[in-house]
This record gives sequence, C-alpha cells and structure tokens, in this order.
Amino acid sequence: MALLLLAAVLLGARSSAQTLPDLGDVSQAVFSPAIERRLGEAIMESVRADRSYLDDPVSTDYLNALGNRLVAASPDSRQSFEFFLLDDAQVNAFALPGGFIGVHTGLMFTAQTESELASVLAHEVAHVTQRHIARMIAREEKSQLATLAALAIGLLAARSNSQLAQAVITGSQAAAIQTQLDFSRDNEREADRVGVQILEQSGFDVRAMPVFMERLQRASRVYESNAPAYLRTHPVTTERIADLQNRAEVIAYKQIPDNREFQIVRARLRASVGDPRQAVEFFEQGLKERRFISETASHYGLALALLRAKDFARASRELSVVEQAVPGLAAVAVVRGQLLAASGDVAGALAHYVAALKVHPRYRALVYDYAELLVANRQPEAALRILEAQLLHAPDDSRLHALQAQSYAAQGKRLLQHKAQAEAYARRGQLGAAIEQLQIASRAGDGDFYQLSSVEARLRELRAQLKAAEKDKRLP
Ligand SMILES: [Zn+2]
Repeated sequence: MALLLLAAVLLGARSSAQTLPDLGDVSQAVFSPAIERRLGEAIMESVRADRSYLDDPVSTDYLNALGNRLVAASPDSRQSFEFFLLDDAQVNAFALPGGFIGVHTGLMFTAQTESELASVLAHEVAHVTQRHIARMIAREEKSQLATLAALAIGLLAARSNSQLAQAVITGSQAAAIQTQLDFSRDNEREADRVGVQILEQSGFDVRAMPVFMERLQRASRVYESNAPAYLRTHPVTTERIADLQNRAEVIAYKQIPDNREFQIVRARLRASVGDPRQAVEFFEQGLKERRFISETASHYGLALALLRAKDFARASRELSVVEQAVPGLAAVAVVRGQLLAASGDVAGALAHYVAALKVHPRYRALVYDYAELLVANRQPEAALRILEAQLLHAPDDSRLHALQAQSYAAQGKRLLQHKAQAEAYARRGQLGAAIEQLQIASRAGDGDFYQLSSVEARLRELRAQLKAAEKDKRLP
C-alpha cells in the first residue's frame, strides 16, 4: 500500500499527503548529494509505513552503532547514514539513495558472526560513499521526473525484493527497469575493494566476506527455488570469492572477538517475530540439543519468547542466566523491565528503570518503556521530566514527542497535548497532520497567552514549510 502510494505520487498523481523531492535540473547537472538525500527520504517515508519495517529500538540502535563504526572507517565519511531493519526472511541488504541502508532479518539470521554481517554492510556503505547510486541514476539520459521516480521505485524493488514494489512495476517495464538498476560490474568490484578496506580499518575480520559468500552460495544450492535476493543483485562467482580471498590474505590475521551484542540481537529478532509458542520451542530445542552459536543469547531469546507467551516465572529464570553471564547489558535490562511490568510488579519495574538509566542514560528502549509505564501508572509529571531531558539530546525523535503528548493527555492539558502530537507528526514528515494538531491546540482553550502564541508561531512555520514542499512538486 505504502509503496503503491509512493508510486502514484512520484508518477504524477496529485496528493498532498506526500512530499515529492525537488529533483531540479537533473538532466544538466550531476545528481547532487542533497537531491539524492531528498529522494531517499521520500522513499523512506513509504518504507517506514510498510508492514515489514521493524521498529525495534534495541535492534535498530545496535545496527546503527555497527554501521556507523564502518562509516567512520570509510574513505569518505562525510555523508550521514541510516540503517534500518525489514522483517523479511530473504537474505538481503541494499542501499537506497541518500545513505539509507536496509537489512533484512534473513541476513541477520544467516550471518554467523558480526564480521560476516559487517562485511555485507561494508560493501553497501561503499556503494554509497563511491556514489554508485547517483551515478547510476545520472547515467539515465531521460532524466525526467517520472523516469527518476520509476527508477527509485525499481531500485527499491531490485534491492529489497519487496512484493509491493514488484507489484507496482509489473510486466515488461519492470524487467527493463531492473536491468537498468543493477550496478555495473565495475561498481561491484569497487564496492568489494573498498568494502574490504573499510572492514580492515574498522577492526573486523576481512576473511568474513569470502566465508559469508561461500555460505550464501551453499544456501542457494539447497534452496534453489528461493535463491537469496542478495545473490540476484550480487552474483557470487568463484572469481569473486577468489578475489576476496586474495585481498583478505595479504592482511595480517587477527582474532576478532565476536560482539556478544550481535548474538543477543539475532536471538532478539528471532524471538520477536511470529508465534511466541513456536519461538519458545525454537530456543528450547536449540538449548536441549546444544545447537547454538551463543548459549547466553539462546537463553535471552528463550526469555523474550516466554515473556511474549506470558510465562513470566520461567522467563524470569531464563533472564537471570543471561544477567549473570553478561551483566549490565542494556538489551537485557530492557527485557527485565518489561518482564517486571508485565508480571504486575510496577514498583519493581520503576525502580529497575531508574537504576538501568543510571548505567545507560541515553538508551532509547529504556526511556520509551519507562515513560510509558509512568503514564500508565498515573505519574505523567515524572514521565514529562524524563522526556524533556531526552528531547534535549534527541529533539527529532518523534516517539519522544508522541509520549509527551500522551503524558499531557493524562494530565488533561489539551493545548500541550496537541502541540506535542503536532511535533511528533512533523518529525515524521507528516506536515498536514501536524498542522491539523496545531489547529486543534489553538482552539483547545486551556492554554495561557504565551502557549497560544507559540502554537500560532509554529503553525505559521509549518504552513510555510508545507507551501514550499508543495511548490517542489514539479509534476510532469
Ligand atoms: Zn553491490
């Protein structure tokens, strides 16, 4: 649905809900990084609304920490990156215009070590820093808006294998677009070369890249009907593996300790999706037969699956095993807090959040859960204090604004509630909805003079922004 909507908007249907990037005179100029970013942001708006988009702060923050470690080690690290997860069993990772890099859960499960995951990400980061996407799009002679839009959607389809995106560009057109969208073989070779450099510079095992390629190759032989999407856009040839092995061989071998957080996040993703009972069985079975990479991570997965299945007593015992093995891990503290709250120990949960936030003061998942629990237990003032402190560091976090709106609602402060909700929408790029909330706020009748004038000032600001965005929509 979301991608269909994007297609409709980009291809010229009139809609005020979406903001089309101003693509300017692409035909004359090089596809600039700013334009590329806006194109990426427009695509991301649809990606975030897609059902497969995985909004788990624990996993997403882990992925971004890993990704940005690679970016920092890349030859050109000026561009900002955003890594995101899609719940999709196909093994894949892909770069969108503007530094947005998508990772399928299937890749997280197939990678056995953090270095293997990092090797795929490093390759995608290299596609971005080497500006392969921009060059690919700029190569198109007919740089009409519609062509670019179709390219963008086709890019998404080719990279993510999203069924929706596939549906948008069915038929012969799809085939034409997809062949145009594959990176050139030179680009692929360059991404491999730069990717190996990035891996080495950031301290990962460079041998992980050929090892992972071979793993994929074996997997595709077994599941021929469901060949990983990554292999479709990145054919693994004996030549490519040999080339990667050669590159790796000249680099001195280092024993890289596997990040325990990687295994925890893998288990977390497994435990979070699908039927909770099946997830419980998966981890129980693995622990019984000692089939696991990390025993601690398996206990973590089992604890989370049991929490979802509402078996709180057993979940607590499993989590204790993890807490003893890896004390002080934020991803573990999140589950303990949810477990305490779910089993009715509100006082225990609140005390737990206070202690955990002392150790991990900026950890989003803990902040969200703590604020939610405070609101649910009629302590909106305390929630607001926490949220305001966090907003100083993350003013663009829409979820913090939404929680602020909930807190004000619990206090019965209508003007402030709708003003905060407006900020939540504005941060997600939904200007129309934000303006609507500000209009409600201005009529709420429970604010003082200063609050009211700040609502009106913000209303003027957002209206001007929306107008500028509408102007950008140079429809073909
Ligand atoms: Zn590639």
